[in-house]
Amino acid sequence: MRHVPARPTATAQVGVAPTRTVNHMPTSRRVITLGTAALALCALFACVADTKAAVRTADEVPGAAGEPHPQMPAIAAIGERTGKYIDVPETAKGPAVDPAKGYRLQDLGRGLYMVTDNAYQSMLLVYDRGVVVIDAPPAYAARLPQAIAEVTDKPITHVVYSHSHADHIGGARALGGQPIIVAHDETARLLKRAADPNRPLPTVAFADRYTLRVGAQVLELSYHGNAHEPGNIFIHAPLDWDTLVGGHVARTGTHADVDTQAEFNRDVKQAAATALATTKFGVGLNPRDGANPWAGFDNYIDRVAGQCVNTLTPKWSSRLAGFDVYVWDQCYAMEQSLRIE
Ligand SMILES: [Zn+2]
Repeated sequence: MRHVPARPTATAQVGVAPTRTVNHMPTSRRVITLGTAALALCALFACVADTKAAVRTADEVPGAAGEPHPQMPAIAAIGERTGKYIDVPETAKGPAVDPAKGYRLQDLGRGLYMVTDNAYQSMLLVYDRGVVVIDAPPAYAARLPQAIAEVTDKPITHVVYSHSHADHIGGARALGGQPIIVAHDETARLLKRAADPNRPLPTVAFADRYTLRVGAQVLELSYHGNAHEPGNIFIHAPLDWDTLVGGHVARTGTHADVDTQAEFNRDVKQAAATALATTKFGVGLNPRDGANPWAGFDNYIDRVAGQCVNTLTPKWSSRLAGFDVYVWDQCYAMEQSLRIE
């Protein structure tokens, strides 16, 4: 089993395309306000104004949303209000959480368990003298002792941090006791800087690999470079894995989920690369912004990302939970990475 910070993925059924809302000031109000100012200036300086051109120019409020790009995706862009999000595919959903308990405990076999509130996920490894807790989200950390008590009366002897973020380990202090805390060197560095009393510093830190042996149980911890953040590690029970505890969402993952995620990543890369190769700089840019380098890049990057989103939407919008929430970010990030890294 592995613990990786993957985006939730799932194959699924057809969703509903969202409507897209573009915020514009009422055109008539802009024309009247600025058009009046232009006419007043003409009166003052006795100029022979081209009033038609003046009105057209006044239709543009610097910094405000303009006309959408041609082929603007239907998926609402970052910062735009979404009228209706795409439904979460049925296959991305998991078993319900008992609201009275506030968590769900899932037996993964061989002493391993997942605890989840269907948003975050932790793992437990029970061995002959104690329990290893992997991540303690503050959302339900206070209930982890109750979850542990469902399967054993042994104490928490170890805590493993998958990474430094407070939403995953900010409940560690609440577990109490004096457990051995294991994390990556970079996580230790980040936690030292954060100086958060709810996230105690690791007592054991490692650079590349660390084998945690507890009784007859073993966890292989390994670092494969910066992923979700520097210091984010893989945690593997060294058996042929068939269950992925990704740290988020309502259910465990499968080999098929991992394959789907990899296929999506390849498609994002290809879509962004094609958009970069086929998008011309400066097309549709207001000529008055011609000397503004930030404007030129923004216009270009927006159109590249828009094409990338359009390319991905038909195949993926109904297969992945949260496609509409993340795809613009993913296209922007991939486009930037391909262009400058
Ligand atoms: Zn995180």
